[in-house]
Amino acid sequence: MSTTRSPQELKALVRQAREFIDDVVIPREDLSQAKNRDYLLSTGKELRALATAQGLTSPRSAAADGGLGLSWEECCAYLEVAGRSFLGPTALQCAAPGQPDIVLLQALANDNQRERFLQPLVAGDKRSCFAMTEPAPGVGSDPRMLLTRATRTDSGWTLDGHKWFASNGAIADFAIVVARADAGVSLFLVDTSTPGFEVLRDVPTMEPFDLGGHAEIRLNQCKVSADALLGEEGRGLDYAQLRLEGARLFHCMRLIGLSSRAMHLAQAYASKRTSHGALLSEHQMVQAMVADAHIELHAARLMTVDTARRLDAGESLRHHSSMAKVFVSEAVNRVADSAVQITGALGISEDWPLSMIQRFLRPFRIYDGASEVHRSAIARRVFKQQLDA
Ligand SMILES: Cc1cc2nc3c(=O)[nH]c(=O)nc-3n(C[C@H](O)[C@H](O)[C@H](O)COP(=O)(O)OP(=O)(O)OC[C@H]3O[C@@H](n4cnc5c(N)ncnc54)[C@H](O)[C@@H]3O)c2cc1C
Repeated sequence: MSTTRSPQELKALVRQAREFIDDVVIPREDLSQAKNRDYLLSTGKELRALATAQGLTSPRSAAADGGLGLSWEECCAYLEVAGRSFLGPTALQCAAPGQPDIVLLQALANDNQRERFLQPLVAGDKRSCFAMTEPAPGVGSDPRMLLTRATRTDSGWTLDGHKWFASNGAIADFAIVVARADAGVSLFLVDTSTPGFEVLRDVPTMEPFDLGGHAEIRLNQCKVSADALLGEEGRGLDYAQLRLEGARLFHCMRLIGLSSRAMHLAQAYASKRTSHGALLSEHQMVQAMVADAHIELHAARLMTVDTARRLDAGESLRHHSSMAKVFVSEAVNRVADSAVQITGALGISEDWPLSMIQRFLRPFRIYDGASEVHRSAIARRVFKQQLDA
């Protein structure tokens, strides 16, 4: 899927989104309400209505599904702009986990599933969650450890298992549940109102502005119809991989935007604050932190765009997506850490967004594959295929 927009039209669209984020969305970030679910949901809804009126929502969804129809490459600049604000991805309808769930449903959903799940998800009328991870001893980094079972019945399936960290789980209208069936790992579309689908709690985390939380869920004799199966039975791990490749890339785009904003704030501070008779911006060690941040963000953008181009070209991109995910997730954390360092006590405070940005970025080194797991997969491929560096 790629847009029919000219480069000038795309630039104008990104500029319009940037103005919307900077002028409308960022002023609505109330740091004192960063953990208040009611504020987050109502503000997110209000901002999305404003963005919809300006034709700015659902960048990656096809125009036929109500989106902007941008290619992966075109999404890079757009999602970076959205990611500048904690509330931006929700406002522009490109937040996780909805955005990667849309990509998955676009690839796999049958006509009935498109109507029931995909279209309302794109329109923002329904919310989704993706429930794969389980508390120990269930699946985490190692997909072979999946314990949730799907048992075939005369009328469909019964799901039994224990999930956690399903982002959006407590506010989702439906879940994409990963479970083991006789033919292997499979995906199921489950209305969260189905008896036996129990949200036990939201797991408290370090993240601010975490709109949908991360739910712990019990599936207890949860009965769904035969049409709940998404795609083919037994191909769930391939599908999860398909979803993850896009999900990682979207995270890279958005979180480059957030860390770039952190450095922008740090630069503003360093340009006004003096110490030892000079502006901070005149001290070489501060300059080095700023220069390194710009180098890292430039490299992070190039890796993200390159991976997006490969995805547009339909290449198999496990290797490149792993390399980009490791580099970008670590680079944005280093940039945010430098931004806090440059800003001193103000950076640690919650008067400014910097400490919250750092807390928001930290989990990216863990979700969608921890750095260590990606490094191990990269090295395995290198030795197996004797790849040149
Ligand atoms: C903010 C957030 C949102 C999330 N959202 C979702 C969601 O929507 N849906 C969902 O299903 N899951 C979600 N997760 C869960 C996420 O996918 C898991 O945390 C991730 O897969 C790691 O699994 P684990 O936490 O069980 O860590 P473990 O598997 O216990 O690993 C812990 C650590 O051990 C190390 N490690 C593990 N394996 C290896 C290895 N092979 N080699 C070297 N070191 C290794 C790594 O450092 C890793 O961080 C989310 C997590 C977070 C933090």
